Amino acid sequence: MSVRTLLNTTGLFLFSILVPMLAQAANMVDSIRVWPSPANTRVVIDLKQTPKFTYFSLSNPQRLVIDLADTKNRYQLSKLSHDSNLLRKVRTSQAKSKGDLRFVLDLTKAVKAQVFALPPTAPYGNRLVIDLTDLERSNTVVKDQLSAKRNRDIVIAIDAGHGGEDPGSIGRAGSYEKNVTLSISKMLANLVNNEPGMSAVLTRSGDYYVGLSRRPERARKSKSDLLVSIHADAFTTPQPSGASVWVLSMNRANTELGRWMEKSERHSELLGGAAEIIQDTANERYLTQALLDMSMDHSLTTSYQVSRGILKELRQVTKLHKKRPQAASLAVLTSPDIPSVLVETGFISNPREEKNLNWSKYRKRLAKAIFRGIKKHFQETPPDGTLWASWRSQNRTHRVQSGESLSLLAKRYNVSVPNLKKANNLKSDLVRIGQILTIPSS
Ligand SMILES: [Zn+2]
Repeated sequence: MSVRTLLNTTGLFLFSILVPMLAQAANMVDSIRVWPSPANTRVVIDLKQTPKFTYFSLSNPQRLVIDLADTKNRYQLSKLSHDSNLLRKVRTSQAKSKGDLRFVLDLTKAVKAQVFALPPTAPYGNRLVIDLTDLERSNTVVKDQLSAKRNRDIVIAIDAGHGGEDPGSIGRAGSYEKNVTLSISKMLANLVNNEPGMSAVLTRSGDYYVGLSRRPERARKSKSDLLVSIHADAFTTPQPSGASVWVLSMNRANTELGRWMEKSERHSELLGGAAEIIQDTANERYLTQALLDMSMDHSLTTSYQVSRGILKELRQVTKLHKKRPQAASLAVLTSPDIPSVLVETGFISNPREEKNLNWSKYRKRLAKAIFRGIKKHFQETPPDGTLWASWRSQNRTHRVQSGESLSLLAKRYNVSVPNLKKANNLKSDLVRIGQILTIPSS
């Protein structure tokens, strides 16, 4: 081996180490920007390349630590001034591995942190975004916005299925579903409107067709707390009978949510007051998503609870086709934001039920049962800002236990039996176990 070959080999050897090192030249922090808003603070780190990062939180004092792999900092942190109420300062600290860069965000309180990289979009290059959310604050702001009108009515949107050129199912004796649903819907609306603190909105009030997407839209425009769609079932054979209650399936809910997310201009509509809050930090898709998830979660839970309550009451007046709430992809149940249930009041294709559904007294019974189910739900969990919620906060409530009577409870809470009955719309002295009573202030 000559000296020359030795040099050559060494050169090649060195070169082969240098190439990967050059290709992965250290990332560089060019600047840091801070965007505060009342409930959030966004910290943006501008970098030369896509950042490789990890992060974790520390408490006492609250800190968020961000490690950037193989990164150098050329931004002068002393230049960073801001008036965020969540962030005290950004500083660097000793990184765990050589060549890495560690930022420490000193925080004023525990926050929810989301850290993600954004690809270049003019005028910005690669970014690492750190979103700090004051959860307490954002929740109250959203709540305040959504319930700006204090002591409002609980609004129930009632949707009479089909209508106009769409008759719905047709019974063997020739009855149209659209007429049955309109009649029950109007009866239900009357019951709702006669209840103090509640009001009804009908998606149609006559024999005309309303598009499927316009039905939940109306519910949304009237800021409804619940959408109840009234239908009558049908099958190819006359045997099936009984009522069932349907809710939006989780899969459909997710699909619908995805569909809504695509149409970003609809976010504000969907989020109500919440949209205005997140507008100041545009493009915050994740926050929109989080808020939507929250409201979807709430609306699915509510839908399920209401449907169970309605089934419980319907059981008193009719046979049930399905004893549990059914989850489905039904066209009218497309609002991930509004609790929605669909009631199949019976099978119009079953001769006996068709007869019943044509009987006004029977329809009234169905309407009353549906109403009781709805009412009980909202008595137990009145939405924030409603008259019922303020009643509830003023009054105590009591869940009736085994062995308790009205007179016993009246004595215990130091109220009169007539007052107790009045506060709960009771016609008799009978109470059942599990019943929730409002205890009026004595
Ligand atoms: Zn129908």
